[in-house]
Amino acid sequence: MPEQGQVKTDVLDAQEDAKRRLALAQIRQYGDPALRLIAHPVEDFDDDLRRLVDRMIVLMHEAQGVGLAATQVGVLRRLFVFEPDEDGPRAIVNPVIVERGEETLTDEEGCLSLQGVRVPVERATSVVLEGKDPNGEDVRYELDPYGSRIVQHELDHLDGVMIIDRTDDEHRKEALATLRPRAVLR
Ligand SMILES: [Zn+2]
Repeated sequence: MPEQGQVKTDVLDAQEDAKRRLALAQIRQYGDPALRLIAHPVEDFDDDLRRLVDRMIVLMHEAQGVGLAATQVGVLRRLFVFEPDEDGPRAIVNPVIVERGEETLTDEEGCLSLQGVRVPVERATSVVLEGKDPNGEDVRYELDPYGSRIVQHELDHLDGVMIIDRTDDEHRKEALATLRPRAVLR
């Protein structure tokens, strides 16, 4: 018989799993045409935008991700949320990489829109990202390798690009084999 603490942990895990599945069901999955479209710049920094950002942060947390682009919730606007460290979630609107270091690193990436897939992707290890916060104020982030990887991934989503486009042929084939049965079942 498991100890009390163990039972409690299992219940919490089950709740987190259920939350995660519900969140993923609200995130566009591979095969959805929205994921292949180019998002448009945001012009109005209004309550609708801030509500969208709040919703995306909740979804990112519940889905246990570290980044989520508007495209992934079917909104073709240039913004994403990300959380590269313990300092809490950030949102950036109309993001642009203004500096990109020459050094790159290949590491495995997953994506909330490509469940069950992890592929190696080469990314610059340092980028400087500029844009606006949801109130229209200028923001600038100088990012470490992990943060740089996340924002390059999310920025790709705003241009309809996904990790399967960035990986090598062998891993792409493997990933597509994982994704195909799911696409047919939808
Ligand atoms: Zn993604």
